[in-house]
Amino acid sequence: MRKNNSLKITLILLVSVLAGCAPRYLSQKPEPEVALIRIALGRGLSQAEVQGADTVYLSDREHSAAIVPGQSWKLLPAAGGLMIQTSQGQTLGPIRGFVRIYSKSSFFINQREFSGPAEVRRAADNGLLLVMETELEKYLLGVVSAEMGRGRQELEALKAQAVASRSYAFTKIGASPGAGYDIEAGVQHQVYDSSRDVPPLIRKAVEDTRGQVMTCDGKVIAANFHSTCGGRTALASEVWQALDERFPFLKSAKDDHCNISPRYYWQDTVTAREMLDKLFPGQSQAKIRKVEVLGRSNSGRVQALKISADCGDTVLYKDKIRFGLSASPVLSTRFELKVQSDKEGFVSSIILEGSGYGHGVGLCQWGAIGMAREGKSYKNILKHYYREVEIKAIY
Ligand SMILES: [Zn+2]
Repeated sequence: MRKNNSLKITLILLVSVLAGCAPRYLSQKPEPEVALIRIALGRGLSQAEVQGADTVYLSDREHSAAIVPGQSWKLLPAAGGLMIQTSQGQTLGPIRGFVRIYSKSSFFINQREFSGPAEVRRAADNGLLLVMETELEKYLLGVVSAEMGRGRQELEALKAQAVASRSYAFTKIGASPGAGYDIEAGVQHQVYDSSRDVPPLIRKAVEDTRGQVMTCDGKVIAANFHSTCGGRTALASEVWQALDERFPFLKSAKDDHCNISPRYYWQDTVTAREMLDKLFPGQSQAKIRKVEVLGRSNSGRVQALKISADCGDTVLYKDKIRFGLSASPVLSTRFELKVQSDKEGFVSSIILEGSGYGHGVGLCQWGAIGMAREGKSYKNILKHYYREVEIKAIY
């Protein structure tokens, strides 16, 4: 970090001392034994407050500084980068690029505990981006906990999730070098629970499948998964603007096992007002004349939904239907539609009677749970939802 020499502050410059314990960062696909992954834990943050029970080190490309126990320093967005505010209110910076944060024991950023290195940089959009780096196997403990639930008891389903999540995550490592991280900690990629208290069965599922991924044509696959398919999983082309030839490992699998899901059947009502607010902002007084399904895929998912209003028409396609129709997402596009009209004949609301939850591509988590309860192995489960895959350990 650029040091402001006019400040008489207690900075410990430790560049040479730290060289031996500096964290390893990925600049290319890692060696399998040390697979590390960088997780975007927070973005748009107004500050990152750092403290630790042991000394916490901060470094950029040129300088290093240390936060002694009992002190708490803040990283703040600043013009052209970020700046550091010490416990005494003194400032350092601006710093361009990013600041790495690490300690020989765990430390805290915004009260979140870190046991491995972290990185804070100015986000491309706004505020600060907080990235955590950890070993892929440790990351999976938090993913399986969050994705399957900490209380889940079906070991083979947990193992199937671990292999699917490991495969997916592996394809993300190093794939977006400009982003500053590999993977999002939310539903865009995989949900991640950073709690260090991992349920024993989840730890066993990850350890029993250590290093195992699914490959197709010799390449690790980006194994998508979802909560509940509702009876049949979807091909990529049913959900995204995607060519199925690019996803030879996906299939539309019939699923008799996910009817145990609490979201196997569902009903939702979306009012005309909710649709207008989402689809025609600023036109809340407009009237909707018609809502119609224009097409359906082989697995029963709505492919195009047309909304005709007196202020214009619009068509939502595929997965955009889930996120584009109302403020709260529609659970799945596998639904039947009933239109309710007011006395003037305009649409007052639509009732969606649906099955399933999520995009429907790849592994169905509730189906996996159902198969595990019937005694199926994690390999049986994975081969039910993915085609032409090999399951093998890469380390
Ligand atoms: Zn299913």
